[in-house]
Parts: sequence; C-alpha cells; structure tokens
Amino acid sequence: MKTIIEPFKIKSVEQIKFTTEEDRKKILKKAFYNPFMIPAEDVLIDLLTDSGTSAMSSKQWAGVMDGDESYAGSKSYFRFEEVTQKIFGFKHIIPVHQGRAAERILSAAVLSQVDEAGRFIVNGKGKFIPNNNHFDTTRANIEFNGAEAVDLVIEEGKHPSVQHPFKGNMDIEKLDNYIAMVGKENVPLCMTTITNNTGGGQPVSMENIRLTGKICKKYGIPFFIDACRFAENAYFIKLREKGYENKSILEIAKEMFSYADGCTMSAKKDAFANIGGFLAMNNEVLYDECRNLLIITEGFETYGGLAGRDLEAIAQGLEEILDEHYLQYRIRSTAYLGEKISKGGVPIIQPPGGHAIYVDAKALLPHIPVEQYPGQAFVCELYISGGIRAVEIGSVMFGKYDSHGKLIPAEMELVRLAIPRRVYTQSHIDYVAEVILEIYKKRKEIKGYKIVEEPKFLRHFTSKFAPV
Ligand SMILES: *Cc1c(COP(=O)(O)O)cnc(C)c1O
Repeated sequence: MKTIIEPFKIKSVEQIKFTTEEDRKKILKKAFYNPFMIPAEDVLIDLLTDSGTSAMSSKQWAGVMDGDESYAGSKSYFRFEEVTQKIFGFKHIIPVHQGRAAERILSAAVLSQVDEAGRFIVNGKGKFIPNNNHFDTTRANIEFNGAEAVDLVIEEGKHPSVQHPFKGNMDIEKLDNYIAMVGKENVPLCMTTITNNTGGGQPVSMENIRLTGKICKKYGIPFFIDACRFAENAYFIKLREKGYENKSILEIAKEMFSYADGCTMSAKKDAFANIGGFLAMNNEVLYDECRNLLIITEGFETYGGLAGRDLEAIAQGLEEILDEHYLQYRIRSTAYLGEKISKGGVPIIQPPGGHAIYVDAKALLPHIPVEQYPGQAFVCELYISGGIRAVEIGSVMFGKYDSHGKLIPAEMELVRLAIPRRVYTQSHIDYVAEVILEIYKKRKEIKGYKIVEEPKFLRHFTSKFAPV
C-alpha cells in the first residue's frame, strides 16, 4: 500500500518559535514546572489537548464570514440543524457553547424534581448514572448535582498493555446487574463515551452500543452517547468490526446513534471547530426541560451561547469529518507515533487510540516513586528536551491524600500526547518520536518532582512543583 498522506494542502500557516534547551529550562522553572503555566508561545509542539485546537478549513473560514448573526431563526442555525440531523438523526438539537454545557443541562434535567411549592429543584441524591468511563466534566456535572457517576468499562479497558480491538466497550453484564441491583428507578440516564477518552481514546464496537441500548430499553432508561469523537469511533468500527468494511462513515454513524435516545457533543473535537457543542434528543418532555435550562445560561435555542459564525464552522466541520481519507490519515498518524515509540521500548497504552498516545510513565520511570510523580517528571523532560507540551494523567491529576497527609496515588501514571487535528505534519510527529526516544535512552537520569503549592480542586492546572 502507498504511504498515507495528509489529505489537505496548507493555505495559511502559523509560525512557531524556536527556543534552546537553556531557554526552556528557565521558562519551565518560571512556570513552576507546570506545563499549564508555560506561555503557549514558548511551546514548539503543543500536544496538551486535541480540544478546540483543530485547524479549520478554508470552507470553514468562509462559513465564518458568511455566518448569520440574527438573534432568532438564523440561517446558520438551520444549516447546523440540517447537518446534525443528517448525521445524528435526533429530532431536537440544541446548540451550546461547549460539550460540558450539554452535560450540565442534561444532568440537571434528568435529576430534576418539582417540589411541593411547584419549584424546579435538582436533587441527584441516591441516583446513579453509568457510562463506560465518564469524562471528567461529565463526572463533575453529575456529582455536582448530587448523583453518582459509575464507570463500567470492560476489564481489558483497565490494563494498559492488554490488546483488545474495542477496549472502550461497556461491560454489558455488569451494566445489567448494576441496574438491577440499584433499581431502575434510581438510574435516570445511562451514557457511553465514543471513543472512550478517559480510557485512552479507545473505541466502542457497534455491537456494544446496540447492546447497551437494548439493556436501557429493557429498563426504560434514556441512553445518551457522549459523541465527541464519533467519527474516529465510526472509522475504528469500519476497520475492526465484521460487516462494516464496506459501509460509509455516515452510515456507521447513523447506525450508532439509532440505538440511542440522544447525545452530547463537543464540537471542539470531531467537528473541527474552535468552540461549540450541542445536545440532541428525541423525547419531547425532556427536550422542553432542556430548552428551559438552556435559556437560563446559554441563550435562545437557535444560538445556544454561540455566534452564527460558530454554527457555520461546526456544520461545515461535521461534513468534513466524515471524509474517509481524513479519518484514515488521522487514525494512522496517531498509530504511527505510538508504533514508533513503542518499537523503541517506550511503554504505551496498547493499542494506540484515536486522538492521543498515552505513555505509561510508571513503567518508563520505575525508579521514581509515585510520591515523586513520574508522569510530571516525563512531562517536564519532554519540554526541556524538545519544547513539547503534554499533560500528566496520573497522581498529579487524580491523587488524593489520606487523613495523615499521605498520597493515595491514581491507578495509573500516564502522560497524554494529544494530537490536534490537521495541525502537525509527519515531520513534526517524527520529531516528537525522536525526542521521546532520546529521553528513553537517558531515562535513568531523570529525577522526580514534589508539589510545593496546590489548590483544593483540579490541582493539575495550577499546582507549583520543584525538582526533588
Ligand atoms: C472534551 C470532552 C467533553 C467536554 O467538552 P468541552 O467542549 O471541553 O466542554 C466531554 N466528553 C468528552 C469525551 C470529551 O473529550
């Protein structure tokens, strides 16, 4: 087979600033060894996230100029509605400013009650919402409303080195038993995340989506898909699931969503947009409630916190993401990085996911105890050696303390290299692999870090570190 090439030409470029290792040591020290505090300008290759960082196409930019900024009934809204209905197939679509706004509205709507005085209150106490793995904002929105967010991914999905074609799958038997155990009246919603971001960008099979829908139907529970990376998931189904080899991405997407009652979506992922999202569903009663919540914080239902130009960019992006040449390049280029570094000995979550490569820092740096944050040490080394920015997903992000102030570490110490869509070329990725392999060679010299200052919540964003 011929080399898979970037399926686009470059019309507009953004210069990147070069720094020396000496510069970067100073910059990192000034940022208290926390990459979130490094000015983006001082980063050579930014793999912090694939969210909102996509390169928009010339047609998307043309759409931005063409956006209709009318308050109600904007032409851009109708285009957005047409495209989303074509792909996702749900009756009602509400635009929102990001995926988390859709999650906030949906979780409040399914956990709401009317009290004796006729007031609308949200009370999730004693309620449970299962998912393969909740993304952190989904979990936070559910927990903020008092309910419990439950992860029921298959066992294979919890072990980095175990191979499985659909490591993001829900454990169907566990789901069935779980609902029976807590009582269907206490499960107001069930979700599945495609691809499973928290689990390493791993796909969910069509069969698994269908069976999850079937279980939900049996108990009368609404089933929603977290659709952020729906096109990447659809492409994995085409590659790996029998019977889908010859189906188009649109056909696969339509079938995935046909098993669900609705979806939440961040357009910052598989819609190539820099901002935006939506909430979609079939049920009229739920829709009415969501629409009321929307108006309180996001705006009228034909713009939902977005400008008309954003709706145009999303609509155009959704058309483009269905392109198989793009998806082939996308999935291949992520795997390419994963294969290159794992061949060189670097332990990663296997097989490579859709949007990111996750390095297993605990296995890479076994001489650094978890109390000295091996993931953070690797992230700092990536920046010093190559100006590459990545994010620790381990005990910095998820660690807690016991009553004696001793660290309760996270289950895994990972470093995520997220690949922005259409932004970097193959030589950028080759460079990233080179830097990582160089670090691998000198891994025994790498030292750990300690936290010198931290906030109460979400400490990975603002904690300050120092080398041990
Ligand atoms: C990014 C993301 C979200 C939240 O979307 P935002 O637009 O960042 O609010 C929800 N779920 C998954 C799986 C995501 O990756």
